[in-house]
Amino acid sequence: MSHPDFSINQLPNQALAGVRRSSYFGDRVFGHHPMLQYLTKDALDAVQSAVVSGSKIDRKIADQVAEGMKTWAIERGATHYTHWFQPLTGATAEKHDAFFDLTPTGQPLERFGGGQLVQQEPDASSFPSGGIRNTFEARGYTAWDPSSPAFIYESTLCIPTIFVSYTGEALDNKAPLLRALNAVDEAATEVARYFDKSVNKVYATLGWEQEYFLVDKALAQTRIDLMSAGRTLIGQASAKGQQLDDHYFGVIHSRVLAFMNDLEIECMHLGIPVKTRHNEVAPNQFELAPVFEEANLAVDHNLLLMDVMEKIADRHQFKVLFHEKPFAGINGSGKHNNWSLSTDTGVNLLSPGSTPMKNLQFLTFFINTIKAVDTYESLLRASISSQSNDQRLGGHEAPPTIFSVFIGDQLSAVLDELEGVSLGKLSPEEKTELKLNVVGKIPEILRDNTDRNRTSPFAFTGNKFEMRGVGAKANCAKPMTALNTAVADQLQCFKKEVDDLIDQKKLKKDEAIFNVLREYIKTSKRIRFEGDGYGQAWIEEAQKRGLTNAKNTPEALEVWATDAVVALFERTKVLSKTELRARHQVELEAYVLHTQIEGRILDELVYTQIIPGTIDYLNVLGNRVMQDQAIYGEGPAKKNMAQELLSTINDHLTQLKAETDQMIEARKKANALSDTSARAHAYAQDIAPRFDRIRLHADKLERYVAEAHWPLTKYRQLLFLK
Ligand code: ADP
Ligand code: MG
Repeated sequence: MSHPDFSINQLPNQALAGVRRSSYFGDRVFGHHPMLQYLTKDALDAVQSAVVSGSKIDRKIADQVAEGMKTWAIERGATHYTHWFQPLTGATAEKHDAFFDLTPTGQPLERFGGGQLVQQEPDASSFPSGGIRNTFEARGYTAWDPSSPAFIYESTLCIPTIFVSYTGEALDNKAPLLRALNAVDEAATEVARYFDKSVNKVYATLGWEQEYFLVDKALAQTRIDLMSAGRTLIGQASAKGQQLDDHYFGVIHSRVLAFMNDLEIECMHLGIPVKTRHNEVAPNQFELAPVFEEANLAVDHNLLLMDVMEKIADRHQFKVLFHEKPFAGINGSGKHNNWSLSTDTGVNLLSPGSTPMKNLQFLTFFINTIKAVDTYESLLRASISSQSNDQRLGGHEAPPTIFSVFIGDQLSAVLDELEGVSLGKLSPEEKTELKLNVVGKIPEILRDNTDRNRTSPFAFTGNKFEMRGVGAKANCAKPMTALNTAVADQLQCFKKEVDDLIDQKKLKKDEAIFNVLREYIKTSKRIRFEGDGYGQAWIEEAQKRGLTNAKNTPEALEVWATDAVVALFERTKVLSKTELRARHQVELEAYVLHTQIEGRILDELVYTQIIPGTIDYLNVLGNRVMQDQAIYGEGPAKKNMAQELLSTINDHLTQLKAETDQMIEARKKANALSDTSARAHAYAQDIAPRFDRIRLHADKLERYVAEAHWPLTKYRQLLFLK
């Protein structure tokens, strides 16, 4: 039997290079069309209703689905299947099993039943659980998520799953995301029905923009920091960096273009709707963005994409870097999360319509989102925190560590006008004025709403909000869980307040809505900021406004232990207190481990590469000094050039060694702290800052030591393709 070759390790089928992409889009996904063909009607209905309403699929039906999926996958050359899940390490995990099996009488066959489709028990003891498994003495299992279709990757059928303990606690990033999406669906549907009774479901939508660097693989392999920490811990900026702005949107290098084409062909097969590609600001930095999708699917697609990118990059002799700050002195990489809410009737709730009522709907979701961000700004900050993103946030080119919302002058003016409306019942004139001259004007405003503030961490961009602080490496499930939970809770609150005004104050529905929105505009003002988010003035202003400014991950995560956040997650049924505490532990531990690894790499770089290389050069200089002395004698001519250089280098080398030794001592002290939180704070306050001081001397040495003696590949070589 012949089937399409989809081994990712081989060069792509060149024949596909010019083929219409829509003709093979999703041909490795068990989506609607294959389901129509391979499933019984009962099985198809069951899967569809599980997707829409979360209904359970019984075992007999699961067997039928598994049978269809197996036939489809085997016909396409798949030999194995796996539950594909998102443990708290941040990456995805998989354990492959062959379809191949033997019957009791020794007959070989391919087997895959409902049992294997629905549930699996990976040996999960090595995944972080933050103590959950110890507490409950329970094992973990993975369970099928029918809302994200199975797909064939290389020769394995991958089944997206959640990962939970036997007592039901989430051990992954997907389970809480699904709960948050469910919460926002319920709350937003209720509110959307004020405006349109035919709405039965609301989907959160997500369009991420993935930034990344490409470095020549052979060169990357010479740097242990790039290979083991994903970023350079040492490196003097190259004379030419990004200052000429000649990379941004520039002509894509042919080697990179070949990689991108290959990548896109693979993405098309896998149903990842990639659309945009371009050079980014920094040299060797690029961006890729898809058409937006339902948030759960979009998250899965982003995780899959990152995996595909690594493999395709390898095929093209590149190393792809997702780290948020791989190189000092030039831009880092983020992953903007464009977010909105869409109804099952096809309406984007953050897009104004053509009638005042539709615009009131827009304003409702718009203002409630602002209010949610205001209430939970510190939670949103925590949701984008990670050891690697700490290196980027607050940098001169990256969103600040403080959350604020940018909406533009014109929408600000609309909110200001609404704020001035009198409370309680509206006279017919007031109502007309409001509807025609304030609310009615919104579509016109948005049509030419071109003002955008690139420095804002949370900006309204015409028909969606853009969350810009998310790290390039991050699993978008984390910020999406936080945002959708916050908005869900806010919308629930809004619904109750509006209903109370209608019931108790006998206000009309639109009057009640205006009244509540007006209050929200007033009470969420501090979160709105239209100015320069990168400036020092904003840091001071934000502090006056009482906004959180957590400088590092352990500090940012503290909000997870607060009563308000625990209550929010419990109310919305997204995370129990136990789950939240476990996550907090896991993230703190991850912070320590990543910082510790970087500390050890620095130690190794300094002792096994920089000190030996520098000493080699000092020997050369020392010889020169001795010869100078032999020729010119001691006396005043002693202070010669070689001598000067030698002592400058010697000073930096001495300080480099001293700083490194102190960092090692500080690490030992921190490691001795038994409390995870104390250890994480010690790493953030007493160890991470030392890295910069070590780097300062190392980078100075790189400036002075002869290139022939410098042991590390330079930025100039890493960042520019020949
Ligand atoms: P940029 O920020 O680079 O200027 P855009 O503002 O055009 O680019 O953002 C494009 C991204 O926004 C795309 O990834 C797109 O899929 C996403 N997007 C557009 N509409 C929505 C929506 N309703 N919900 C979520 N994402 C959206
Ligand atoms: Mg963007």
